[in-house]
Amino acid sequence: MAVETLFEISEPGEAQTKEVRRGRAVGIDLGTTNSLVAVVQAGQPICLRDQLGSLLPSVVHYAADGSVVVGQAARGLAAQAPQDTIASVKRFMGRGPRDAEVTRRLTPYEFAPGADAVVRFSLLGGRRAVTPVEVSAEILRVLKARAEAALGGELDGAVITVPAYFDDGQRQATRDAGRLAGLDVMRLLNEPTAAALAYGLDKQAEGTFAVFDLGGGTFDISILKLEGGVFEVKSTGGDSALGGDDFDRALAARLLRQMGLPEDAAGDRSLTRRVLDAARDAKEALTKLSATEVVIERRPGDVWRGTLTRDELDDVVRPVLDRCEPPARRALRDAGLEAKQLSGVILVGGATRMPIVRRLVASLFGREPLADIDPDEVVALGAAVQADLLAGNARKDVVLMDVVPLSLGLEMMGGVAEKLIHRNTTVPCGAVQTFTTYADNQTGFDLHVVQGERELVADCRSLARFKLTGIPPMPAGMARLQVTFLVDADGLLGVSAREETTGKESSIRVKPSYGLTDDEVERMIRDSFAHAERDVSERLLVVERVEADRILQATRVALAASADLLVDGERAAIEAAMAALETSKAGRDHLAIRAAIAALDAASKDFATRRMNQALQQGLRGQDIGAVESKVGK
Ligand code: ADP
Ligand code: MG
Repeated sequence: MAVETLFEISEPGEAQTKEVRRGRAVGIDLGTTNSLVAVVQAGQPICLRDQLGSLLPSVVHYAADGSVVVGQAARGLAAQAPQDTIASVKRFMGRGPRDAEVTRRLTPYEFAPGADAVVRFSLLGGRRAVTPVEVSAEILRVLKARAEAALGGELDGAVITVPAYFDDGQRQATRDAGRLAGLDVMRLLNEPTAAALAYGLDKQAEGTFAVFDLGGGTFDISILKLEGGVFEVKSTGGDSALGGDDFDRALAARLLRQMGLPEDAAGDRSLTRRVLDAARDAKEALTKLSATEVVIERRPGDVWRGTLTRDELDDVVRPVLDRCEPPARRALRDAGLEAKQLSGVILVGGATRMPIVRRLVASLFGREPLADIDPDEVVALGAAVQADLLAGNARKDVVLMDVVPLSLGLEMMGGVAEKLIHRNTTVPCGAVQTFTTYADNQTGFDLHVVQGERELVADCRSLARFKLTGIPPMPAGMARLQVTFLVDADGLLGVSAREETTGKESSIRVKPSYGLTDDEVERMIRDSFAHAERDVSERLLVVERVEADRILQATRVALAASADLLVDGERAAIEAAMAALETSKAGRDHLAIRAAIAALDAASKDFATRRMNQALQQGLRGQDIGAVESKVGK
């Protein structure tokens, strides 16, 4: 695992252009409300819709007989079985029960009790519990099957998009969902970046663009700069809990008041769902109409009717929509730009169809936004373009440079957050900083990795905790702890720590607190087999082969790029391990493949370390390495 990350880090730009003839690669917009899969055919990206031409609603229904229904049909079942029908699962991705608490008041779901850090939806009266990752994987499976049917064969890889504002835990959860669905996730791509690609902005010579994405559950604003055919994300901002769903909820509250009911519909979850559905339908209708009728069945045979005008809707929407403005202004400021310096503004997301949203965008940026491409499709289309590039089918080079959306740092004495990597740093990136002991005879470091912009750890998001122990007692200030942060091309973080005077290293598994461990993902893959028709070992085999391909590919790239770093006999040992892996990959024993992967990992470990060091030296030119002394630990 670590080896792969190191290889990617040391090749900035390479991951985007690696020549892997992979053929069938798709782009997937895994949306809060709707999901879509797209593919490049004959040089053009197209969306693969269902027979009715609809998007796939991101709704999953778990039936009592053990079957799972996804999409439009599931949405239809939401009113009668609200607790067993999960909508807007993306809001829960990579979230812990504490985060979910915020959303909980507003959703009909039950959460399974448990002390662990992962949210679990309790289904079927407590007989089944599923994580957001498992729910998302169901959506991805449907898209995968749709794409495979359309393309006439198994997929070789997929690019999945995520909101630019997603933190590490949310990204990791998305990747896990892809893996669980049996997809080789080649890349996670920020949604606004995908939109810019779909617009073919890469064909423009120069320019700076804003992407305004208001979907069902998230608001993203990104400023992208294009120079000499290269995209760079200058800044990102937004709100991971703001979107059309919030308009629906605000409108539903108003409708309930009009119906003479309390805001929680007196605890009637099915009625809450019906009112939310009616609110959404009315809101969407009012994009074209100036007034619409609202009909809600309070209980069987008891129907409430009312009318709603666009002005009334605007009054409800405005206070929610106002929350877009500060992040949008901040993103411009972070990019060092004024609105008038932009070359254009792109609209993304279903909610940007609303006239009031277009007015806001026009006034914020002082121009009419671009909306030639369907704002529902634009992200999936761009992801397909990127997938095509990664698959090596590309016609030309486009290099995407994404940024770290939130600063990454460590907790210092006194609960202060020390930032190692600042927000809006282009990925892949790394940072090294040296710390020392605070107390005499301290034999260990307690490291707490946090993410966020605030100064105090209490206000940041906790990503991971780990220890480095076994350091001999030394006077305060003598130990030298070198901490390395690496963010890979997907925006995922790896952290390592080494005590310089003793050479003691901590091999830390840095997983976001709210993500899932490999074991859990593995367990879920196994669990999912129980429900699948296909043979268990067949699936394990597929998973291991995908993993094997990825590692072989990374190793080939590394050998080609850094031959000068190899010591005597090392190439032969690595190549032998690669050949052994190829051989076991051709066989049908997944345990043998797993063992061969581990052997290759071991054979290339030292080489990888040297590559990392070299990459850090190159990557950190101009930044002071280890020059900063800070206090850390307890
Ligand atoms: P996501 O990216 O979260 O999956 P989408 O881009 O699919 O979201 O946008 C979904 C949101 O857009 C929903 O809140 C939906 O009600 C809203 N929406 C879709 N069509 C319209 C429309 N014609 N008018 C207003 N809102 C719309
Ligand atoms: Mg979207």
